[in-house]
Amino acid sequence: MEPADVRDDLTEVLLTEQQIHEKLAEISRRIETDYAGRSILLVGVLRGAVMVMADLARELKSPEVEMDWMAVSSYGAGTQSSGVVRILKDLDTDLTGRHVLIVEDIIDSGLTLSWLRANLESRGTASVEICALLRKPDAAKVEVDVRYVGFEIPNAFVVGYGLDYAEKYRNLRAIGILAPHVYT
Ligand code: 5GP
Repeated sequence: MEPADVRDDLTEVLLTEQQIHEKLAEISRRIETDYAGRSILLVGVLRGAVMVMADLARELKSPEVEMDWMAVSSYGAGTQSSGVVRILKDLDTDLTGRHVLIVEDIIDSGLTLSWLRANLESRGTASVEICALLRKPDAAKVEVDVRYVGFEIPNAFVVGYGLDYAEKYRNLRAIGILAPHVYT
């Protein structure tokens, strides 16, 4: 789905599909350099990170890349972070000695990620780093070291490229700001 297909529901297109792909290619080159000679376990956070994971993983030019998934509770149908993190689906992979790269769509309060990182580190990993496509200003308030950030975005509710509002708009190719009339 293109922005034109949901024009009335967006106040603005923040990032085009091409901008996203160029950024993921850039990040992938950095990851290849940083992890040279090591295998990586990409851990995608369902469901928002599905698109980032798919494009980032395919951009990485190495067979030493595995993928696994976790689902944790997040916003539900609203637009406010609950601050409560629950594991809805855990990993299938043993993390002992693994270099884990958490792949996230967006960091808002940072609560989800700081909790997730500590959780994975407690499982005997060799390293845990974070890659997030988007970061909002509030993330600065929480101590969470994110190694790879795609774009710093304003404090607005965004949808598309995996990010939903009430499970919709995930299939939008671009990322846009959701018009308030949609959720009020
Ligand atoms: P945090 O714990 O950092 O506040 O929240 C992270 C999660 O909240 C993200 O993985 C995402 O699911 C959701 N989230 C935060 N901001 C937005 C946003 O602007 N749009 C959408 N669709 N989800 C968001």
